[in-house]
Amino acid sequence: MLLTPNMQVRKITDITIETLRENNIKGMILDVDNTLIDLDRVPLEGIKEWIDNMKNEGIKFCIASNSLKKDKIGKVAKMLDIPYVHFSAKPTKIGLKKAKQILGIENSKNIAEVGDQLFTDVLGTNRMKMFSILTEPLCEEKVKINNLKRKLEKRVLRRKK
Ligand SMILES: [Mg+2]
Repeated sequence: MLLTPNMQVRKITDITIETLRENNIKGMILDVDNTLIDLDRVPLEGIKEWIDNMKNEGIKFCIASNSLKKDKIGKVAKMLDIPYVHFSAKPTKIGLKKAKQILGIENSKNIAEVGDQLFTDVLGTNRMKMFSILTEPLCEEKVKINNLKRKLEKRVLRRKK
């Protein structure tokens, strides 16, 4: 099924090296918006450490973002010290093929792509016969937290009356 992810996680940092090994993953292609950074461009907490740990375990990385904003994607790539492809046109194969080349991994089955969107990330990845990992969008996380904060605020305010 082209629209069914191979795996679903809440956020990228929930993925463990054991899971990658079980699925023979040697390299990862990463989406940026709402996967690594939120809409305010704030990086996901712990992302740098997670990438560094995975690198130490031998996992290779490349970013493939559909964003046209080269400066924004370049900045994230620099911060994480990994190569990148911007304007990658997922769900077409163009950018994912480029990223695969950069990773230098022959067999697509050894590559996982991680992203928050079904119709770009998962669809493109499954078309490439790579391993698709769907995350929840970081912005929703923020909305949830804000909603919780508002609920708590209301409760506190009610108490004060
Ligand atoms: Mg995204």
